[in-house]
Amino acid sequence: MGTFKAIVIEKSDTGTKAALTDFDEANLMDGDVTVAVEYSTLNYKDGLAITGKAPVVRRFPMIAGIDFAGTVEASSNPAWKPGDKVILNGWGCGETHLGAYAGKARVKGDWLVRLPKSMSEREAMAIGTAGYTAMLAVMALERHGLTPASGPVAVTGAAGGVGSVAIAILAKRGFSVSAVTGRPEEADYLKRLGATEIVERKDLTGPVKMLAKERWAGGVDVVGSTTLANLLSMTRYGGAVAACGLAGGMDLPSSVAPFILRGVCLYGIDSVMCPIERRREAWKRLETDLDRPKLAAMTREIGLSGVTEAAAAILAGQVRGRIVVKIG
Ligand code: NDP
Repeated sequence: MGTFKAIVIEKSDTGTKAALTDFDEANLMDGDVTVAVEYSTLNYKDGLAITGKAPVVRRFPMIAGIDFAGTVEASSNPAWKPGDKVILNGWGCGETHLGAYAGKARVKGDWLVRLPKSMSEREAMAIGTAGYTAMLAVMALERHGLTPASGPVAVTGAAGGVGSVAIAILAKRGFSVSAVTGRPEEADYLKRLGATEIVERKDLTGPVKMLAKERWAGGVDVVGSTTLANLLSMTRYGGAVAACGLAGGMDLPSSVAPFILRGVCLYGIDSVMCPIERRREAWKRLETDLDRPKLAAMTREIGLSGVTEAAAAILAGQVRGRIVVKIG
């Protein structure tokens, strides 16, 4: 047992504070698998935890970070042995269980997914919770029955992490994708990912009509609030929207009109407690349905020392695509 570098969040009377520090392995929480972490990533939720802007962390001290990819170092779980390459997304890591911005993590083996054969740890974390959630959203739309022939699909928060990956996956699946963004200067980036149309964010932030002109067969929404309400009101008869985020707010100022007059369905997407079978399916699909060159083009790398600055930037909507955090 020794120490390793970790980003630890402490709580005091004045609030919470995150700092890069040495952490003693003896203080890791219970779990049947110990993993040497190679890469983590920065998600919107990590931004909330590090800055303390929302009560994401419910145990102190907490090692932040909700995702990791790494190599099993020790295991008493029959499913895993030393040397296995694994991915972890969510399950309360970085919230109630010591998380991913650390040289080591000890977790339940039942939480782990095997790293797909053709994927590196870095690629898995370039995808991270944001990308795996985008895949869950696309899977929900496809289970609903949407195909490229159904019509175009809108992706909100398009230049962010979930949005960027959702565009790339939908484009690869043959969908025509409308990228809804507050950063029109990123139009070329979004088109390179596969967007066929750029829609200004303000088109979906105005007053919400109960029913607006039918525009999209489906949507992936990371923004919530007025944006999601407008998206629902613009969804075509029989269409579906997969909602996963709250970047614009937690509320939903909508009406039942899209549901009862157009048969529109709203699917909720949760990545944190998503059952293991669906996770495995999502990661299998990510191996084939996401172009690696596009993933590389949307990703930049930082070290543990860069996480605090990046956390503030992601909450300010200034991060484009995905950030991986190199640890090992
Ligand atoms: P990012 O910050 O990378 O992306 C969010 C994007 O939303 C921004 O890039 C911006 O896109 C847009 N945006 C930001 N603020 C506003 C605003 N006030 N109004 C309208 N649009 C806004 O975050 P992620 O992609 O990592 O996460 C997106 C959301 O999804 C978050 O709320 C996150 O908590 C949630 N999430 C939920 C998961 C789940 O399990 N349900 C899992 C993963 C994420 P642009 O500049 O293009 O307009």
